[in-house]
Amino acid sequence: MDPHPKAPPTVPLATLPLPRADARSERPAQPPAGHSTSTTERGSFCLALCTCGWRGPARRSRDLARKDATLHTAG
Ligand SMILES: [Zn+2]
Repeated sequence: MDPHPKAPPTVPLATLPLPRADARSERPAQPPAGHSTSTTERGSFCLALCTCGWRGPARRSRDLARKDATLHTAG
């Protein structure tokens, strides 16, 4: 069985709806509600970061940085 040489073409791309590019619906400038912390390393230091923009002091220990983050979210 040979494939049909005159098979109908697939749907042209032009008929598909394009995703909307609305410049006004960009993500909001405000951070999300609540605090979500994480730790990052800078060289031999570790510091805590939060989605609200807060960042803790550079610590020698990741554990201390996590404690900074915990204190931040708690207070
Ligand atoms: Zn925060």
